[in-house]
Amino acid sequence: MTLGPLPRMAPLEIGQLSIFSCLDSAGPTRKPEEMLRGLPDGREDPDWLAPYFSDDGRMVMAYQSFLLRLEERVILVDCAVGEDGTFPARPDWHRKKSNWLAHLGLAGVTPDEVDTVFLTHLHLDHTGWLTRWQDEAWIPTFPQARHLTTRVEHEFWLGRHEEFPYMGASIPDSVVPVDEAGLFDFVVPGDEIAPGLAVVDLAGHSPGMVGLEYREAGKLLAAFNADLMHHPLQMAYPEVTTLFCADPARAAATRQEKLADYAEAGAVMFCNHFPGDCAGRAERDGEGFRFVATR
Ligand SMILES: [Zn+2]
Repeated sequence: MTLGPLPRMAPLEIGQLSIFSCLDSAGPTRKPEEMLRGLPDGREDPDWLAPYFSDDGRMVMAYQSFLLRLEERVILVDCAVGEDGTFPARPDWHRKKSNWLAHLGLAGVTPDEVDTVFLTHLHLDHTGWLTRWQDEAWIPTFPQARHLTTRVEHEFWLGRHEEFPYMGASIPDSVVPVDEAGLFDFVVPGDEIAPGLAVVDLAGHSPGMVGLEYREAGKLLAAFNADLMHHPLQMAYPEVTTLFCADPARAAATRQEKLADYAEAGAVMFCNHFPGDCAGRAERDGEGFRFVATR
């Protein structure tokens, strides 16, 4: 038997922007009712959703980063789950290894060449590769990079992570060493972090969650939409939230609004947790939307 690579997005170019997926892991996770809230009773899912479930009805999800090149800039969007982390409630993540760094190498980039790490939010599945376990200590993986997130996100999670058992280890292990090294800068929605690449407010799922929108000549071409959706079910049913949402009503309203914007613009969305071809467009489909992968 030959094992092929895990399904992941093929490199894409959109205008001047190059996008490469650095995949940490992909596979079946929870059943929808174990993680999602507000699923319609007796729902009949549209046929296009079928490939996003494994045989036993579990949602297939990916954990990944996007590496962006734009002019001379090298920008990493989010840091996935990482290696060697302490997640006793997630046996599939606890002390795991990953070939995520090999994917960074496949993109032709060393950690020291990354000039910006953009963190959409500070949940554990977006911060893992911020640090590496080396010589009995967690050290920043990207010491040459400025690390960007919102002040709201930084204050909330550094101040209150102990109230959330699933965040207990990831903030001290992954975020605090970067903070203590003085590598964080704060952004607000509207800031342009590179030519045409602007921060956009996606608060709701996490208190200060943000994404990125890329425009050329004023036209919206691409959106890095963080956890606006965890699974394409949330496009078919945009009102559906997760048990991890800080403000479920706001998360749902943000999703409705942004999906409508991106459908109208025909923008390519980069959906962190969609497996395989996670770049695609939103098209209106009844009360919700459908996901149309770029390939
Ligand atoms: Zn996530």
